[in-house]
Amino acid sequence: MTYKDKKTCKLLTVIISLVIILTACTPKSTEQMIVEQDDFVLGTVGKIRIYADDEKAGNSAIEKAYARIVAIENTMSTSIEGSDVYNINKNAGNAAVEVKEETMSVIKKAIDYKELTNDVFNIAIGRLIELWGIGKDWQKVPNEEEIQDAKNHIDITQVELSGNNVMLKDPDMLIDLGGIAKGYAVDEAARVLRENGITSGFVNMGGDVYALGSKPDGTPWNVGIQDPEIGSGDVIAKVGLIDESIVTSGDYERYFIEDGVHYHHIIDPETGSPTRNELVSVTILSQKSVDGDVLSTAVFVMGLEEGLSFIEGLEDIEAVLITKDKKMYATSGAIDRVEVLNPEFQLQK
Ligand code: AMP
Ligand code: MG
Repeated sequence: MTYKDKKTCKLLTVIISLVIILTACTPKSTEQMIVEQDDFVLGTVGKIRIYADDEKAGNSAIEKAYARIVAIENTMSTSIEGSDVYNINKNAGNAAVEVKEETMSVIKKAIDYKELTNDVFNIAIGRLIELWGIGKDWQKVPNEEEIQDAKNHIDITQVELSGNNVMLKDPDMLIDLGGIAKGYAVDEAARVLRENGITSGFVNMGGDVYALGSKPDGTPWNVGIQDPEIGSGDVIAKVGLIDESIVTSGDYERYFIEDGVHYHHIIDPETGSPTRNELVSVTILSQKSVDGDVLSTAVFVMGLEEGLSFIEGLEDIEAVLITKDKKMYATSGAIDRVEVLNPEFQLQK
């Protein structure tokens, strides 16, 4: 399959969890103009929209931001041959692999998060991700023996870090940065835009959004949270953001159905299977997308009660959780920021 073919077929399955609600907004300074570009990156349709002094400068800043995202994808993807993660996994049980400094720092952050999240966020679960293959050609429900076998190879203490080298001591282990790298890439794209003089805009990579500055009239960017009902695509609530990130993880993003059972891409390391609880989506508000990315996945696994109290205990992080019975729960710092647009979804106060 050529790259182009792959792109087209993936596009059909892409689901956007967060959308930017655009109301007419004329820049205060009349010289500024809207510049935007969409691109297929990180397995999703990305959108970057900014206000710039002129089209050329705007396009140039956006292209640099996309180039940064692609560079991160080429470094941290499990499937791109020659990426740091690909090399680490290929050399499992065999050799230490020298990685880029940023790969090392993302891996270290992910490992710290395992402890903080009571083990629910675990980048060493690659074997389970491979086994289930959600969203891949080989997706299937594995048998109990296969699950148990993969679960024997997710012990993160087997990931040895030294200098800029990473070694998986367990030859049957695989790491997967799918729950953290996209958030990191969004932060980096926002940083590149800022570095290129952009003060207003947004980066939207499907479920991971960063709102840069405010809209030119000083009002926040409005980001819509999607209806978690499969196939709906409607926006059910909105949140205003200025210089902030919003990230959503949902069970409707990547999944398959077998014998009437819905199997999705967020794995509970304890069971070795897709997480099964009352939640359908978790949205995290944070300063950085990298934290939102990890925490949206982690809180999804924790479930409603534990997830809410876990986020309440973290400074500068807020969350909005949606349950299967269409109830919305927000942490104390988010409750007054969420505007419900669909009355079927009730915000619990
Ligand atoms: P997200 O869509 O942000 O919730 O991230 C889900 C992705 O993170 C999956 O596609 C996997 O690559 C990875 N992942 C799934 N479950 C876990 C987990 N328990 N810990 C760490 N990463 C995970
Ligand atoms: Mg995530």
